[in-house]
Amino acid sequence: MERSPSRLEDLDKRNVVVERMRERGVDLNSIAAITLDLQSPYIEGLDFETCLDHVERVVRKREVQHAILTGLELDILAEKDLLSEPLASIIKNDYGLYGIDEILALAIVNVYGSIGFTNFGYVDKKKMGIIKDLDIEGKKPDKCHTFLDDIVGAIAAAAASSIITHRYG
Ligand code: MG
Repeated sequence: MERSPSRLEDLDKRNVVVERMRERGVDLNSIAAITLDLQSPYIEGLDFETCLDHVERVVRKREVQHAILTGLELDILAEKDLLSEPLASIIKNDYGLYGIDEILALAIVNVYGSIGFTNFGYVDKKKMGIIKDLDIEGKKPDKCHTFLDDIVGAIAAAAASSIITHRYG
């Protein structure tokens, strides 16, 4: 019988996910900075620590961890040329009509319901904060950030939704 992962295992996975993102050049602070940028025009006195706290809540969710692990793995495999064609070229070149990177990121945003979608769309379009850097860096021949940029945007958007839900929910 399938064993359901305990909260402790979710916490372990939180550490794996945070470390894996750090190896890919993203820490939780840079995600929290996007959340702050996104929400501070609407919430008076919103501070960085609150944003970081909500980013932390997001990465402790099992669905979020699974989406992060899946997306980062595909980027890493693409960088190592371990994917087969035609997917290898699609992911490595961040082909514009692929769209599965955004779809996977929606699994993160989805945890907080429909308010997350608008935030995610905005973050994605504006390429806020570290997302812009990841986008530029990902264009280098030995780098692939096809999934990472959307994952970062989705976590930031989900944290913004978590703040709103926490305050007004
Ligand atoms: Mg992408």
